Amino acid sequence: MTEPSKNYVNGEWVASETGETAEVTNPANPSEVVATYQHSNENDAAAAVDAAVAAEDEWRNTPGPERGRILREAGTLLAQRKDELTEILIAEEGKARPEAAGEVQRAIDIFHYFSTKAADLGGARKGASGPNTNLYTRQEPVGVAALITPWNYPIAIPAWKLAPALAAGNTVVLKPASIAPGVVVEIARALDEAGLPDGVLNVVTGPGSSVGSEFIGNEGTDLVSFTGSSQVGEMVYEQATDAGKRVQTELGGKNPTLVADSADPAEAADIVANGGFGTTGQSCTACSRAIVHEDVYDDFVAELVDRAESLDVGPGTDHEMGPQVSESELSSTLEYIDIAEGEGATLVAGGGVPEGEEVETGHFVEPTVFTDVDSDMRIAQEEVFGPVVAVIEVSDFDEGLAVANDVDYGLSASVVTDDHTEANRFVDEAEAGVVKVNDKTTGLELHVPFGGFKRSSSETWREQGDAGLDFYTIEKTVYDNY
Ligand code: NAD
Repeated sequence: MTEPSKNYVNGEWVASETGETAEVTNPANPSEVVATYQHSNENDAAAAVDAAVAAEDEWRNTPGPERGRILREAGTLLAQRKDELTEILIAEEGKARPEAAGEVQRAIDIFHYFSTKAADLGGARKGASGPNTNLYTRQEPVGVAALITPWNYPIAIPAWKLAPALAAGNTVVLKPASIAPGVVVEIARALDEAGLPDGVLNVVTGPGSSVGSEFIGNEGTDLVSFTGSSQVGEMVYEQATDAGKRVQTELGGKNPTLVADSADPAEAADIVANGGFGTTGQSCTACSRAIVHEDVYDDFVAELVDRAESLDVGPGTDHEMGPQVSESELSSTLEYIDIAEGEGATLVAGGGVPEGEEVETGHFVEPTVFTDVDSDMRIAQEEVFGPVVAVIEVSDFDEGLAVANDVDYGLSASVVTDDHTEANRFVDEAEAGVVKVNDKTTGLELHVPFGGFKRSSSETWREQGDAGLDFYTIEKTVYDNY
């Protein structure tokens, strides 16, 4: 049995004062303990905040290009360890290997991207009304950032919060999800080896209700960036705003793909299957509703069922679709399948746990398709977070658009159509932070903004790209008279 992993606080690897640890098991084989992490408490979290506060001046006064050099070096170290990180990610979270490797590569790319941004941060010089005045703006770091992240993209999401926070000169306390914290610990190791000064990044593992809540409430933190479920995120938003913090929350989704009458049913089914069953449906941007024109409905359903039934489900190490991350996520998906049947939806593919030696013990579920779904059913309204697609039949484009928007969420939405006017209308009218034409709802570029509408986001600030830096900077306007 390997040693329990420690917290990273003030440049040291330290045990929690609780003396307690928590095991992480392999979702493809839950009897296998993959690693053990600190089960930290409020005091551990407060000590991490103290370290981040103490490191603030040194880091904000470190020149941007030097901050960038450290980020670049950390990205390069992660790249050298890509295979090892991919294995940790598969073992803790369960993703299929190409998905896990792609996610690790995304984190590497994010570190490299923000390494150049650290040098570019500046401001603008403007004309002054009087003579002998330099009038200009500066972008300054905000302070100590508290980052709280989910398990489903355990390296990409921490990277897309952490890299801009550090590039802009903030110090950080980070609480990864307890289910899959291993890759975040490796990010801390890479930054430490790259020469990040002590206290600039502090990683504490443990429950959200103690560690996460202390990060938010502690008066030493200035910013809170949270990604996770809408239920928790709404509480986090309230706690953070009550405490007067700058806060962004990115939350759940119920993402539609609208299939128009001009769509090729096979191409549309590829798009929906990739969006719905990729990452075992455990993406905030996963397609969970296919809204299909009646003229192509039967052909589309046949094609989608074919894709669901031909997916190879098994351990992420060598199969196309991995398990759900935990027993409770699996039970929740199976419960939604029961609810959908109870509501009168027709189960046309999957619906249960697969059989076979390799999938006997893991948290596996079959790719599942329901037809005859009405928009007001729970299966069409609530986030399932498993590989379940609800197909809703509509009689024209307007109805499809109305159904697409008929949910509380608004993260990602796509349309499959050959009609350019329809595509433009969808872009105009879809209530979602990401809108795609002839593409799956999942998959993001790292250099453009990301964030949701409605209950998918606090709608306060965007993440990623240049917009990602805005959250971590504050503008100062200088009137320099000479
Ligand atoms: P979750 O809300 O259960 O947990 C997210 C994080 O919050 C974890 O680190 C958890 O420990 C912490 N937490 C829990 N209670 C807390 C509290 N009281 N105070 C502070 N922190 C607390 O979410 P999850 O199950 O880890 O992730 C899945 C969810 O995340 C899904 O709903 C998914 O849609 C969403 N998600 C959204 C995006 C996005 O960008 N919009 C991206 C990925 C995932």
